[in-house]
Amino acid sequence: MDKGIRDYQDFMSQLGILGAEPKRQPVPETAESVSIRRLERENALLIDHAEMLACALGACPNCWGTISDCEECGGIGSPGAFKPDRSCFDHFVLPVIARVIGRDPFETSLEKG
Ligand SMILES: [Zn+2]
Repeated sequence: MDKGIRDYQDFMSQLGILGAEPKRQPVPETAESVSIRRLERENALLIDHAEMLACALGACPNCWGTISDCEECGGIGSPGAFKPDRSCFDHFVLPVIARVIGRDPFETSLEKG
């Protein structure tokens, strides 16, 4: 081992014995760490969206029925496998159905005639 390194380690251990802590510099932010944090935020947002849609469609939020040995559904969790959550369904699915069939989703009166 290099004598300089040994001297430094001895010095640091003596400081430790005296109760002194070496001052830690904050880790400088790099472009890579910024990218990682952005990707973590995006990943969390996508997971939230996938879980809300699974809730609205009555699908397994873990696998959507695509993992045969899923711990949550045993592989049966494709959309419609479970009872959809009504508020999630009304929020995410009903407006789409209304758009497809061209009607106001919140209109409750039945047309006569
Ligand atoms: Zn599943």
